[in-house]
Amino acid sequence: MNTGMKVLKFGGTSVGSAQRMKDVARLITDGERKIVVLSAMSGTTNTLVEISDYLYKKNPEGANEIINRLEAKYRRHIDELYATPEYKQKGMDLIKSHFDYIRSYTKDLFTLFEEKVILAQGELISTGMMNYYLQECGVNSVLLPALEFMRTDKNAEPDPVYIKDKLRAQLELYPDADIYITQGFICRNAYGEIDNLQRGGSDYTASLIGAAVNASEIQIWTDIDGMHNNDPRIVDNTSPVRHLQFEEAAELAYFGAKILHPTCIQPAKYANIPVRLLNTMDPSAEGTLISNDTEKGKIKAVAAKDNITAIKIKSSRMLLAYGFLRKVFEIFESYQTSIDMICTSEVGVSVSIDNVKHLNEILDDLKKYGTVTVDRDMCIICVVGDLEWENVGFEAKALDAMRDIPVRMISYGGSNYNISFLIRECDKKEALQSLSKALFNE
Ligand code: ADP
Ligand code: ASP
Ligand code: MG
Repeated sequence: MNTGMKVLKFGGTSVGSAQRMKDVARLITDGERKIVVLSAMSGTTNTLVEISDYLYKKNPEGANEIINRLEAKYRRHIDELYATPEYKQKGMDLIKSHFDYIRSYTKDLFTLFEEKVILAQGELISTGMMNYYLQECGVNSVLLPALEFMRTDKNAEPDPVYIKDKLRAQLELYPDADIYITQGFICRNAYGEIDNLQRGGSDYTASLIGAAVNASEIQIWTDIDGMHNNDPRIVDNTSPVRHLQFEEAAELAYFGAKILHPTCIQPAKYANIPVRLLNTMDPSAEGTLISNDTEKGKIKAVAAKDNITAIKIKSSRMLLAYGFLRKVFEIFESYQTSIDMICTSEVGVSVSIDNVKHLNEILDDLKKYGTVTVDRDMCIICVVGDLEWENVGFEAKALDAMRDIPVRMISYGGSNYNISFLIRECDKKEALQSLSKALFNE
């Protein structure tokens, strides 16, 4: 199916108030047919998590208090969003039905299954609100229910064949619609239960849909003018990167650039669909284009990933031994813990992980093979760009910027796109600032 349509995803801040929703409506009604993916209004998913926390702790009063407060907020949004009594009523009915539904979960046993249902309400509400608003404005828009086509398999991975078939069937129901609105983040799992694509997963929804309809472009609209060359929350004077290769974008997203969910690059890359990052608050800003084209000889950006733990296994028996690394890796595999960085020497190996759920078991098992030491509260700093080994000078520049910072591990040569440093979290700010100065501002 080659629809040639664009898929546009708007994040939480982009639909975070009635006024923002009106701005988005204006942006998407330019006469082009399109699929629009929306997140929940900003703060909503966090509040739904909070409600679930109270219910896990068997405190329905606590949950109800937050539910009431959130509902009151939505009533104000409804009042501001719609102009006519007819649509104000439709909006109020929409809100009431979702909040009554949430309340129905405060009475019984609360498990992971119920939590997923609660978390899904944010996107169901925001898309319902936007669809009514467009209809009130006379736009021919329809709601495509993501729960009818977005599905994961037994490994909790999206099922692209199912998604393509079911989405196509949904689109065919409304051949004359101009705008299709659908929910980001939410899906059904292999058992047909309501589930989600993990926090921040609306970006993933957009790229899965883009690949399924062979879109001409996937646009991720957010609150900043594209991928910046360093984390704008930490470093001043960052600037947007105009162009990234899919791998570069994937490295940055994986290593902490929050603007993109790490999973969302792969479907777009395989379908060779360009991804554009754009700013809802400044729609004419150029943003960032992510595609298969490489810009030679350029360092593009720096990102940081927190909450990393480093583990070193030292073994005199490793000297000239084969099979040692396999034994070490098998331990991590058996606890479903993935490794981010790895460095080896003849007498030991260091790895970094971010999931410490099974850390104690892993350490116990590793101790069979050598002396084990652990460094907590570390962070990975990732420098991304055209870092092909034959290009000279780039590693030296990055290393030089780190000259005053204690570096626990360095990883280079794993791909052509990055060099990573493992440092203490408390040195992160200084490292990011120093790299910005050395790589972009001199
Ligand atoms: P949305 O709700 O639209 O999905 P997010 O909050 O997930 O938006 O992502 C946008 C935010 O990502 C920005 O406001 C910015 O603070 C943060 N961010 C972190 N690193 C970067 C970066 N390198 N470039 C741009 N934004 C970044
Ligand atoms: N609303 C979800 C979240 O806050 C998904 C998303 O916004 O991408 O995580
Ligand atoms: Mg996001």
